[in-house]
Amino acid sequence: MKLRLDGKNVLITGASSGIGQAIAVRFAEDGANVAINYRSGAEQADATRARVRAAHAAVGNGGRRSMIVQADVSDPQQVQAMFARVLEEFGRLDVLVNNAGIQKVAASHEIDPADFDRVLNVNVRGPFLCAQEAIRHFLSRPGGGVILNNSSVHETIPKPKYLPYSVSKGGLENLTRTLALEYAGRGIRVNAVGPGAVVTPINRAWIDNPQARAEVESHIPMGRAACPEEIASVFAFLASDDASYITGQTIYACGGLTLYPEFRVAWSSGE
Ligand code: NAD
Repeated sequence: MKLRLDGKNVLITGASSGIGQAIAVRFAEDGANVAINYRSGAEQADATRARVRAAHAAVGNGGRRSMIVQADVSDPQQVQAMFARVLEEFGRLDVLVNNAGIQKVAASHEIDPADFDRVLNVNVRGPFLCAQEAIRHFLSRPGGGVILNNSSVHETIPKPKYLPYSVSKGGLENLTRTLALEYAGRGIRVNAVGPGAVVTPINRAWIDNPQARAEVESHIPMGRAACPEEIASVFAFLASDDASYITGQTIYACGGLTLYPEFRVAWSSGE
């Protein structure tokens, strides 16, 4: 049986933890050759690669490849060097996943402008720089390509005290849609996934605290946070030819968070 991403070469940014790691493993299960980008902590990247190799072995290795590649996605030189290394190793790239992201909590009137810049640099400038490199490569040879962005429900839902994060994910929506439109006629699809609350290190404030987690989950219509694999499966679909006619979209995987949960009860009509 042909696997969904058989023989596709993919690069995933920020893939040594959380959702990025789950995407790396899921793509390997679907037959892809996987390049794992990380910013710091080579041991964690190696651990992800070990999981990717195990996934390859489980589907019959068949010469499938993986690599780890260090780079800060907000730095143009490092991004260029990362693409050069991946192309040297794999020869060709088919799918870029812009997953790396950070957030910073502070009341909006107290945010240090340097923190604002840092979040925007990783969450928007990073995907821009990586998309530029990917598109240049896609245009340099036949066959087009796929770019996927890890956005958030906060692409559309405001998040007080996380202004840079909300702004960055709103910007990522426009980056997704603009690139999708600009390159639709040249075989390049650009889409995003918008997760809700997912059990990953970015949410270390509540994932291991049962009380705090129950409070978070009480706001989610499906009553629970997602595991990273439930987000990775949406990326696998969008990366594959099953999504060949989808471009410029954000698919929300959010347990209903984008459905105005406050309207679960008919408070506005008095019934
Ligand atoms: P995470 O902290 O485990 O993953 C973020 C990864 O990005 C880390 O591996 C980190 O090292 C990497 N990274 C940070 N700055 C980088 C840089 N400059 N260059 C390269 N890599 C860098 O958390 P996660 O939840 O897996 O987050 C992944 C993505 O998912 C983020 O874009 C985040 O905004 C998005 N997201 C997460 C949730 C959630 O609830 N966990 C919800 C919506 C969206």
